[in-house]
Amino acid sequence: MNESNPCLADIFVCSRCGYCCQGETTVSLDQDDQERMIAELGLSRKEVQDKFWRITGNVVQMKIVDHHCIFYREDSGCTVHEGRPWRCGQWPLHPSILTDENNFLTIRESCPGINQNLSYEEFCKILSQLLDQEQVILC
Ligand code: SF4
Ligand code: SF4
Repeated sequence: MNESNPCLADIFVCSRCGYCCQGETTVSLDQDDQERMIAELGLSRKEVQDKFWRITGNVVQMKIVDHHCIFYREDSGCTVHEGRPWRCGQWPLHPSILTDENNFLTIRESCPGINQNLSYEEFCKILSQLLDQEQVILC
């Protein structure tokens, strides 16, 4: 690790375990997410809505199939990578890690890609430096 110039791999390398794409619910899609996903899929809004989205009131999420996001494939991971919601890209380096160690511990427990050898303080120091450099980190 280069302490003066840390890189993303110092704190996180995705193992593509797919855990974050599983469960009975997904992140929600904001308006930009919806437009990006529609463009990526090359379908009409109605088609994307009918095939891929679960809409509850004004909350748009992705459908769940077999306990995982409809876009997740065991062999290839996310099949809408370029059109994925920004919250998917942000995971697991959620800024809330910086303000609450419990968030860090919870996220680290559920994501094997997090460098398990760093203390909370070490992890936050690097994450802060990366965020200062890039504002937003998309994984
Ligand atoms: S982000 Fe974490 S939980 Fe999700 S696939 Fe990568 S290693 Fe697994
Ligand atoms: S859109 Fe992709 S990254 Fe996000 S939950 Fe679905 S499969 Fe996972």
